[in-house]
Amino acid sequence: MSLSNNQPLPSADALVYDEGVRERTDILHERVRDVVPEAEWPLHAPLIDAINRLKAERNAVILAHNYMTPEIFNCVGDITGDSLRLAQVAAEAEQDVIVQAGVHFMAETAKILSPEKTVLIPDLEAGCSLAASITGEDVRRIRAAYPDYPIVTYVNTSAEVKAESDICCTSSNAVPVVEAIARQWGSDTVIMIPDEYLAKNVASQTELRILTWKGDCEVHEKFTRAEIEQLRAEHPDAMIITHPECPPEVLRAADFAGSTGAMSAFVAEHHPKKAILITECSMSDNVAVANPGTRFIRPCNLCPHMKRITLAKIYESLRGMRFEIEVPSDVAVRARASLQAMLDLSGGGRPPAFDTSKPERRADYVSV
Ligand code: SF4
Repeated sequence: MSLSNNQPLPSADALVYDEGVRERTDILHERVRDVVPEAEWPLHAPLIDAINRLKAERNAVILAHNYMTPEIFNCVGDITGDSLRLAQVAAEAEQDVIVQAGVHFMAETAKILSPEKTVLIPDLEAGCSLAASITGEDVRRIRAAYPDYPIVTYVNTSAEVKAESDICCTSSNAVPVVEAIARQWGSDTVIMIPDEYLAKNVASQTELRILTWKGDCEVHEKFTRAEIEQLRAEHPDAMIITHPECPPEVLRAADFAGSTGAMSAFVAEHHPKKAILITECSMSDNVAVANPGTRFIRPCNLCPHMKRITLAKIYESLRGMRFEIEVPSDVAVRARASLQAMLDLSGGGRPPAFDTSKPERRADYVSV
């Protein structure tokens, strides 16, 4: 049944929790009962119901990153996962409209890979400290200073930065991408930007010399070795699972390190009784929904950019078909080549883990 019935669509704050909404959303409520407070459900349910009906009318697909709140991730997300998975699925989506429940660079990536589709982001201010740390002009200066070394750019960057790079990577595939591009260029040195900690963690996994940039994820840079050791003392029976955007000494103190996709796969495969995910807060909630047998201890840092995306903004985005992402075609063509080079290397299967027992190796900063 049509949501609009040719009537103007109500605004988000006019939607109400009635018997019809309750019946249609009961099954979703069951799924998230352990991670969404009971008192909040009547606020979420009318928006979830309206979004799910409106996205069918708009022929839209919602891509939801692992750091979305559980009511978004589990109740309106059609495709969920880490940035590599979202990038790949965005390229294959059949729908005319993509709504990116994530941050701006992810929506740009979806637009670059699907230029014929309408790509919407519910809040244009949903940015990223890594993406903000470097510009296309910075990469051009690096290229001029180091013409013989390939430049690998983390996907957490603007389209302009991707356009100036040789290949992109995610935290799922950073090590194989760096090694593959070094082989292609016949180089013993690779420039990996802009995340200094991801670059340092990759340096410990390869014999290659890695040069990097001083960009950081404001969520993961805050975790410390002392915090991990305290958690270990308080919860000696817990598996400590961390993300490679954290400082290297944090990875060394953990049991496992990998991308958000690898973290989820590790919990699903090993079924630990107790787990501690050293990453953004919503990740534990979302992994907990899929792994009810594991108890999660939740020391976490919120990403203020991811948290700008709410159910109300997703609904308003679909209602008003806003905010549309555009990437200039000359930038998009070159950024797409960098993304495609990465996607061509990415096989299926489980994302590789970082070996946390390997000794630390330095990654120097580029000098420009
Ligand atoms: S969690 Fe870190 S890398 Fe991801 S969007 Fe937030 S600031 Fe950027």
